[in-house]
Amino acid sequence: MTGGDAPILAVLGGGQLGRMVAIAAAELGVRTRVLDPSPCACAGHVAELVVGPYDDAAAIAALTAGAAAVTYEFERVPAGAARLAATSAPLRPGPESLAETQDRAREKRLFEACGFAVAPWRAVDSAAQLADACEELGGPAVLKTREGGYDGRGQARLDAPADAQRAWEAIGGAPAIVESLVAFRRELSLVCARGVDGQTRFYPLVENTHRRGILFITRAPAADVDDEVEADARRHAVTLLERLGHVGVLTIEFFEVAEHAADGGRATRLVANEFAPRVHNSGHWTIEGAETSQFAQHVRAVLGWPLGSPGIIDNDGSYATSGAWAMVNLVGSMPDRRALLGMPGLRLHDYGKSPRPGRKLGHATIAGRDRAAIEDRLNEVARLAEPGFGL
Ligand code: AMP
Repeated sequence: MTGGDAPILAVLGGGQLGRMVAIAAAELGVRTRVLDPSPCACAGHVAELVVGPYDDAAAIAALTAGAAAVTYEFERVPAGAARLAATSAPLRPGPESLAETQDRAREKRLFEACGFAVAPWRAVDSAAQLADACEELGGPAVLKTREGGYDGRGQARLDAPADAQRAWEAIGGAPAIVESLVAFRRELSLVCARGVDGQTRFYPLVENTHRRGILFITRAPAADVDDEVEADARRHAVTLLERLGHVGVLTIEFFEVAEHAADGGRATRLVANEFAPRVHNSGHWTIEGAETSQFAQHVRAVLGWPLGSPGIIDNDGSYATSGAWAMVNLVGSMPDRRALLGMPGLRLHDYGKSPRPGRKLGHATIAGRDRAAIEDRLNEVARLAEPGFGL
């Protein structure tokens, strides 16, 4: 750890995102202190760990003592804890960014107010309301709890209004939204950052593949993205960043939808799914793949420092736009370490967490000169991570 006069960055949450923020912060001479209710929190291996509940005033005081800024690594931080932390040091991103992502109905309304296309949706508070909403929306739908859902948790699929009771029970009968199932071509996400001075940086759109509701593979940059789609995603990001007065990294998840264009050709359109006011799993490839990783970018932004270049690094270490990167999440159990480490060009990130079904334990990053060069190795890693996985 650095010492002396090193600025201290306080982080609410001590999971793998906090851990990777702390590693990037240390390279910039910044000490990181994290607050987490668990004494085993994996960020505690690389940062000072304060163990305590988020809504405990003494724990928040211990976290923020002498801190230059406070940030968070997950969006379910209790609003009271964030407010309290903000009395000791600047909270970045601010409370607005946090509040808008804690309630899916609020998030949808924000997207609509920003002019983004979203899946048709309704807020529902009972199984009867859900059945009516499904009738109105027509077709298959997804029910999602308004609060607390992540990695596919708190969600249920419905094929018809008759499924309402089952779906309502499956999510525990909590206030929810129901939205039409989008027949997307693929899922894309945009990781971006905004500094204290309002400057912005964008990483390229990446393509995400999920397994059991959890991100499994990110391919970066996404293949065959129209310039217009990339520009459109960035316009979405600027609108959102500015509306929130966001400082730090932010990620928007999109569905890319194929449409028939007016001239009879095919066009693609972005439907905004959700956003995260933080560093994101689909940006992990930037640790090796970008000139400034999303974690270093976040540290720079929240400390009010100049943002770095998000330029892609080719796998020979030069800056380029042609390199291809892929990230595979290691979920539930760690594959054979020797097999992974024996693969040329593979970078392994083990978060040091104990295995549990559905838990993100680490990720592997693969680089290549172009997309074709990484597909075989990507398949190999994906099969080690998920035996029987066929891409
Ligand atoms: P979310 O928590 O909203 O990101 O949802 C998790 C995953 O479920 C998404 O990444 C999609 O793969 C899928 N999903 C969620 N909402 C929809 C939707 N309206 N239409 C199709 N797939 C969806």
